[in-house]
Amino acid sequence: MQRVFSGIQPTGIPHLGNYLGALRNWATLQKDHDCLFCLVDMHSITMPWEPEKLRQQTLASTACLLASGIEPTRLYNQSAVSAHARLGWIFNCISRLGWLNRMTQFKDKAGKNRENHSAGLYVYPNLMAADILAFQATRVPVGDDQRQHIELANDIGQKFNHDMGVDFFPTIEPLIPPQAARVMSLRDGSKKMSKSDPSEQSRITLTDTPDEIAQKIRRAKTDPEPLPGEAAGLENRPEARNLLSIYGAMSDRSLEDLLSEFGGQGFGTFKTALADLLVEKLAPVASETRRLLADESHLLEVLRQGAARARSVADPIVDEAERLVGFLR
Ligand code: ATP
Ligand code: MG
Repeated sequence: MQRVFSGIQPTGIPHLGNYLGALRNWATLQKDHDCLFCLVDMHSITMPWEPEKLRQQTLASTACLLASGIEPTRLYNQSAVSAHARLGWIFNCISRLGWLNRMTQFKDKAGKNRENHSAGLYVYPNLMAADILAFQATRVPVGDDQRQHIELANDIGQKFNHDMGVDFFPTIEPLIPPQAARVMSLRDGSKKMSKSDPSEQSRITLTDTPDEIAQKIRRAKTDPEPLPGEAAGLENRPEARNLLSIYGAMSDRSLEDLLSEFGGQGFGTFKTALADLLVEKLAPVASETRRLLADESHLLEVLRQGAARARSVADPIVDEAERLVGFLR
């Protein structure tokens, strides 16, 4: 059975992009794979953070993930399993600065003010490689934005194998969904939907009320043209393409099928249909999240047990990696 690992940062409430790019697939994969899912709180402090907010967001993300169908036994938070940090340090020493310099996520997050960002943000991909390889996982369900980091994780794993003269870390395959692998911001079709976008209007979260969902879709940026009858008419219309691809992924319908129904019409009818669809699919997740959030001690217990299970898998692997490196025990 293939081992699957994936993570999400508790930097805010998970949104529609996280759901379609990652969480929905996690819930499917756990049926026939050996899965571990992680709230990567150590990654969350690579950007400025507030401790109390981080605690609350970690609990809220736990509730959202459980409400999205993730089995409790597979879920834990990264900082509770020291294997991540131990292997992360080794990978800091295996990875090359030249490799990290090519990472677009660092460039996007650091922007122009590079010098003032944390060293953690720069080495984020090394820790992400450790997250996966501490479990010798071979499949990683992620959104399209993480493709480059998975390639780097493979470079790191292969370099470790080569330098230590072993065949220890496996090759990782990203599992990127065919539809809606990169959901874009509702305010700007050239930016991906993100938890860290300062605009609440840019994303639909898994705790939004039906009214909030409907209002965000109504206000979503579009262009003045009617929807085209075929896909070729979507060129240079990123906002229209984004809304259609959300609809398609949520309803398992193809772009062609949607354009044959909505082509030639303005955005009004389509947006109403999209809002109804999102409310129908997401409202149950939101109400289950609220129910789970009322019992904080249960959420903490889920994370505690998940961490114990994760430790039992990762510790022997990282012990062996340390032995291969030459560390004495
Ligand atoms: P942050 O802004 O804090 O980086 P994020 O929204 O990018 O938050 P992450 O926690 O970094 O979310 O990513 C969790 C998972 O969700 C990853 O697998 C990532 O590829 C996926 N993901 C994130 N944003 C999108 C998106 N807009 N569309 C599809 N998948 C996404
Ligand atoms: Mg991200």
